[in-house]
Amino acid sequence: MTPPDRHPDAPAVLAALDADASAAAGHQFVELAAAYLAAASAGEGAVAPALGPAELAARFREPLPRGGRPLAEVLDRLAGDVVGEANRLYHPMAMGHQVSPPLPVAIWAEMLVAALNQSVAVSEMSPSGTAVEGAVVHWMAELAGFGPRAGGTLTSGGTEATFAALLAARSRAIPDVWTDGVGAEPPVLVCGEHAHYAVSRAAGEMGIGLRNVVTVPSRDHRMDAEALERTLAELDASGRAVMAVVATAGSTATGAFDDLAAVADACGRRGHWLHVDGAHGASALLSAGHRGRLRGVERAHSLAWDPHKMLLLPLAAGVVLVREERWLEAAFAQKAPYLFHAPAQHEAEEFDAAPRVWDQGIRSFQCSRRFDALKVWVALQRHGADGLGALFDHLCATAARLHARLAAHPAFEPLHAPESNILCFRWTGARDDGADDAALDALQHALRARYNRSGAGWITATVLDGRRVLRVTVMNPRTGDAHLEALLAGLDAAGRAEWAARRAAGATSTPAGAAVAPDMP
Ligand SMILES: *Cc1c(COP(=O)(O)O)cnc(C)c1O
Repeated sequence: MTPPDRHPDAPAVLAALDADASAAAGHQFVELAAAYLAAASAGEGAVAPALGPAELAARFREPLPRGGRPLAEVLDRLAGDVVGEANRLYHPMAMGHQVSPPLPVAIWAEMLVAALNQSVAVSEMSPSGTAVEGAVVHWMAELAGFGPRAGGTLTSGGTEATFAALLAARSRAIPDVWTDGVGAEPPVLVCGEHAHYAVSRAAGEMGIGLRNVVTVPSRDHRMDAEALERTLAELDASGRAVMAVVATAGSTATGAFDDLAAVADACGRRGHWLHVDGAHGASALLSAGHRGRLRGVERAHSLAWDPHKMLLLPLAAGVVLVREERWLEAAFAQKAPYLFHAPAQHEAEEFDAAPRVWDQGIRSFQCSRRFDALKVWVALQRHGADGLGALFDHLCATAARLHARLAAHPAFEPLHAPESNILCFRWTGARDDGADDAALDALQHALRARYNRSGAGWITATVLDGRRVLRVTVMNPRTGDAHLEALLAGLDAAGRAEWAARRAAGATSTPAGAAVAPDMP
């Protein structure tokens, strides 16, 4: 049997394509998004849905839809089951993870990213896209002080950015790694105790192995520069080669910045590759008040920087930058003649004589890749670097005011002065009532769950110096003093309720030595 010339359903589907491409259809999505933004900004509704993962999964467990349905029905379903049961990051009481309530202009730009669907792996597939990404990378490298030969690419986030940067470091340390592998005794990776798991994950992914990750202890939640010096000297003495040293600019747990100038000194003396994980904190480069925290970053070989964090862009928008563009090409030393037609710079004898390859695919872990750079470009056009820097300062100032309130409150204990917009603290309202540290650990865990479940607000928790702590990330510029006040009142009430419940049940202490396992950030 030969297939029919035309599928009988095709005309109806084609008509739907035409109808859906109209501005009227698009407006319905815009209105849904704008209504969400307005309601959440005004603090309406719960910050997070009350339903748990199993209940939500059940709601979506249904047979594969074989036929289509009217757009209006799809929009109704979106409004109720998806928008209605999402975390409201635009709510001023949302102070949880490092995920942004995205800049409105970037939300609307997302629609263009999808409409144009330019794959920025290859210049011929993304004529204006490759140029825009090049401009964004150039501006960000300039902010980092990286000089004229710098390059980089957009990534899915900080994890991919750090992976790509460390692949570049690997190809420098083991020039034949692409064909021969890392060998039995690969060089070691050195990072701070507070480094994001992106670093150890990269070590596993690239065949270096966790055994070859050397951790430097912290002092005041940042890499202890003297301990780093000792560690590097010991590695020298034992003849171990070092692939890279990873410093953190804005740590996940506390938002603390490593002393990059001191780390760069230690690396510079030995010629080690310095990678800075600035996924969270590199956006301080746009801020007049906080730029100094990255002093020394211009001496790094590579930098990971997430615009989808403190530049308040929607996921995903990460960036990896290198001081020499060809280092990134060496990281992915693979030939794909069907895509890339010119020799890459790292293959040329004379770097300066080699024609620059525009195709970003030779510098990226990804092949097909979204035009995420457009969001960064639009945000910079709309607000300017100074406007985005002002937002950064505003968020950090809110965190500083929260710190002051916690310090003045008898039932709370702030655990560090915030260097950015992240702050860890403990509720200690039961201490005078006989709760020891272990009991307080259990209480932090329980009161956070109770508070988040209430829908009134949403915060995170982590483990700091072996103790369970509460953690707030101020990502929403709409969070003001009244919201900070409400946060403390809500957490204090949740703490008292949990303590009262424990006393009623006679469970006021925790067995000695009960281990506190770190959470995944
Ligand atoms: C968030 C974060 C990462 C991971 O970035 P993703 O964008 O989530 O992949 C890495 N390092 C630090 C310091 C971070 O804060």
